[in-house]
Amino acid sequence: MDNLYCLRCNRELEPGHKSVAVYMFANTVGIRPRQKSTSQRMCFCPQCSVSLAMGPPPEGALNLAAWQMIRDLVSADPALNQAAWDTLRGVVGLLPATGTDGPRRTNAGGYFEF
Ligand SMILES: [Zn+2]
Repeated sequence: MDNLYCLRCNRELEPGHKSVAVYMFANTVGIRPRQKSTSQRMCFCPQCSVSLAMGPPPEGALNLAAWQMIRDLVSADPALNQAAWDTLRGVVGLLPATGTDGPRRTNAGGYFEF
């Protein structure tokens, strides 16, 4: 299995990670022999999916079609929004604390008066 990357932000999507996959293939119609192209899979991480869906419609017929499909998913159930929210909180949790917790507070004698 090759590793997948979010088409929009290039974040690596490991197997089992939450994402939205868009499949696309082409086939000939009314032409013999009937031909079918290989199938392409494009992936979006939950944050990009929600961001795209909340954003304005993109340019181009194919982009617009994909945007409408992603909007369908995002608007149908809050699970995808939840996944994006979870990822966002995970990133925030990795940021260093800014002195709002920890033992340093014990030195701030003048900060509290009762
Ligand atoms: Zn992304």
